[in-house]
Amino acid sequence: MTQVGLGRVDPSPTALPGDLGPLAPGQALAELHAGNHRFVTGVPRHPNQDAGHRAAVADGQHPFAVIVGCSDSRLAAEIIFDRGLGDLFVVRTAGHTVGPEVLGSVEYAVTVLGTPLVVVLGHDSCGAVQAARAAASTGTAPVGHLRAVVDAVVPSLRRAAERGVEDINGIVDIHIAQTVEAMLADSFVLAAEVTAGRCAVVGMSYRLSAGGVRTVAAVPAGFAPAVAVAPAVPSAAAPAAQDAPTPPPGVTPANPAAPAAA
Ligand SMILES: [Zn+2]
Repeated sequence: MTQVGLGRVDPSPTALPGDLGPLAPGQALAELHAGNHRFVTGVPRHPNQDAGHRAAVADGQHPFAVIVGCSDSRLAAEIIFDRGLGDLFVVRTAGHTVGPEVLGSVEYAVTVLGTPLVVVLGHDSCGAVQAARAAASTGTAPVGHLRAVVDAVVPSLRRAAERGVEDINGIVDIHIAQTVEAMLADSFVLAAEVTAGRCAVVGMSYRLSAGGVRTVAAVPAGFAPAVAVAPAVPSAAAPAAQDAPTPPPGVTPANPAAPAAA
C-alpha cells in the first residue's frame, strides 16, 4: 500500500523529549517518528520515566497521542516510540479491533484530554489477522469471545480478497487502513474533531524485527470524513453521498455497512 503522511509533519522536531507542550497533530506525529527513530537506532532516551516526572504528572495528563494498537506483547507503545509517563494514551486489543469501549476511550482522549493525534498501530505477522484468515479458510469459528476478534477482522479479509492481496502483511496493511476508516465511520465524535482540525488519524504498521513504523493510512486534521454521521441522522446514505469529499491519498471511503467489531 502506498505510504502517505500528513502535510504538517515536521521532520526534525526541536522540542526536548521530556518537555512537550501542546502539540499540533503534525508535531505529535513527528514526535512519534522521532522517538521510533531513537528506538530503532539503539539510542533511546527513555524520556519522562523518572520519579520527578512521575510526580509532575500525578495531578493531570496531557498525552499527545492516542495509540490504538494490537495487544501483541512485542508492540509496547512507550518502548517502540521511546516515550514515558503521561505521553501516550494507549488502548490495545488483539488485532486492534475496535468496539464501543475502545471508541469511548479514544473519544475521551481527544475531547477531554485534547489529544491531537490518534494512531492505529498494527504489525507484520499479526496473529489476530492470521487467526481470522485461518477461520475463514476452514470455515471454523473460534470458541468463546475470540470469535469477536475474528469477526472484526473479516471485513478486512474481504477487502483484501477483492484486491487480490494474499500476503499476510499486505492483509495487515489493509486491516490497519480498515480500522482507521471504521473508527471514523463509527465515531461521529472523533470525526467531528478531525473535521474541526483538532485531531488527525494515522494508521501505522510496525515491523517486529526491525522495530520501525511505516504509515499506511492518514486522515489529516481538517479533513471531513464522508461517512461520519451523528446517530440522529436517520439515513447515512443520502447526506453522506451528497457532499462526500475526496478522500486523502491512501484512504478510501469506509463502507458504512462494515462492522468495526462483532
Ligand atoms: Zn497483532
